[in-house]
Amino acid sequence: MCGAPVAPEHRHLLDLRERRVMCACRACAILFDRRAASDGHYRLIPDRRLRLADLELSDLMWEELRLPVELAFFFRSAADERVLAFYPSPMGPTESLLDLDAWAALEADNPVLAGLEPDVEALLVNRARGARGYWLVPIDECYTLVGLIRTRWRGLTGGREVWDEIGRFFERLDGRSRPASRNDEKETTAWRS
Ligand SMILES: [Zn+2]
Repeated sequence: MCGAPVAPEHRHLLDLRERRVMCACRACAILFDRRAASDGHYRLIPDRRLRLADLELSDLMWEELRLPVELAFFFRSAADERVLAFYPSPMGPTESLLDLDAWAALEADNPVLAGLEPDVEALLVNRARGARGYWLVPIDECYTLVGLIRTRWRGLTGGREVWDEIGRFFERLDGRSRPASRNDEKETTAWRS
């Protein structure tokens, strides 16, 4: 942002207009932590990661969300005033038209989802190859996964290398996440304190 050197462990800002992730030095991260300072253009991406082992999402409900693949992320877009669904593909992040009634039902079953910070936090779903993993993550995690798939995918099914990488991505994410429940409404504001 300001041109100062960025430490290896650093926070990210989201450019809301271009949905681009930018590295931020400590000073910039503190500055942009106050929403007013950002003038609505940049938002500091939070750093809470929750493993939602008890998320209520049946196969039927998953079908109703109408995702064409088994890896996807969902976030509330302030500009669109609704939840958007994306999935990683060899072409980059791809939007899927989301059934909003199905999302509302999912949110009713899982109150923790009401606490998704608009634009900068997402529900990340991994149901690929029999997995059933759900995390509430900073949006930059989703773009890391997107980048991994965009650059490593080979042929129609991706190839072994990309699936090994995807496996390692979720292992790392799991290691950095703390367990939370779908009913944790208190999680809606916990990250601010
Ligand atoms: Zn800076």
